[in-house]
Amino acid sequence: MTLADLDERIKKCKKCRLWKTALNAVPGEGSLAAKTMLVGQNPGVEEDKVGRPFVGRSGKFLNKVLADNGIERGSLFVTNIVKHATPNNRKPLPDEIAACLPYLECQISSIKPEIVVLMGAVAWQTTRTEGVRYMETVHPSAAMRFAKMRKRFEEGFAQLKSRL
Ligand code: URA
Repeated sequence: MTLADLDERIKKCKKCRLWKTALNAVPGEGSLAAKTMLVGQNPGVEEDKVGRPFVGRSGKFLNKVLADNGIERGSLFVTNIVKHATPNNRKPLPDEIAACLPYLECQISSIKPEIVVLMGAVAWQTTRTEGVRYMETVHPSAAMRFAKMRKRFEEGFAQLKSRL
């Protein structure tokens, strides 16, 4: 299955309840030859409106940290562990994560990135695949709010740049 086929499946997905309340599925976007993948939690309100990941406030913060470290967002593949927005942006439930995880696993096995950056405790639940390195950092929305987390987030991306 190609990634375009996978996107179509994600857009039609009814494996959990989230399709009922979301406007758009957000499969992810970026380079299909990406050496680095970024994984967040689930699309928020802004992402739900346009079907693209990290375009709202936390996306703008993420873009700034990437730019500060000389990392081009277009060279990455950016996605979420859960592909539909949740009601009132609540944390996705375990059954929603379990239903959606195969899509992320398929994206990882097709793109074959060297590093997958897992942003936030929900994304840390991603299955680890052999031959892929995983880096755990905090979610950008937490990094925006708390100085300690911001430091961890920024240091993570500085380290990532030095490995690319
Ligand atoms: N937060 C996420 O985890 N993902 C997005 O796409 C936007 C906000």
